[in-house]
Amino acid sequence: MIPESSKARTVVCPGCGTSLAWSRDNPHRPFCSERCKLIDLGQWATGAYRIPQQDADDGKAQSDDQPEEG
Ligand SMILES: [Zn+2]
Repeated sequence: MIPESSKARTVVCPGCGTSLAWSRDNPHRPFCSERCKLIDLGQWATGAYRIPQQDADDGKAQSDDQPEEG
């Protein structure tokens, strides 16, 4: 009988969905390969972080966040 803890751990590659054995020899884990790793990183690097463009004002809108003394 083989205890469950002795089983080889399997993970699913987030990039392509391929199930692979979790091994310390794999520097790209949890990805199956460097390619999937780069693809996944590229996805959020290209579209996730978008800086919202605000309309260029001449500064006529002033912030009124200053607390009043009193
Ligand atoms: Zn993959």
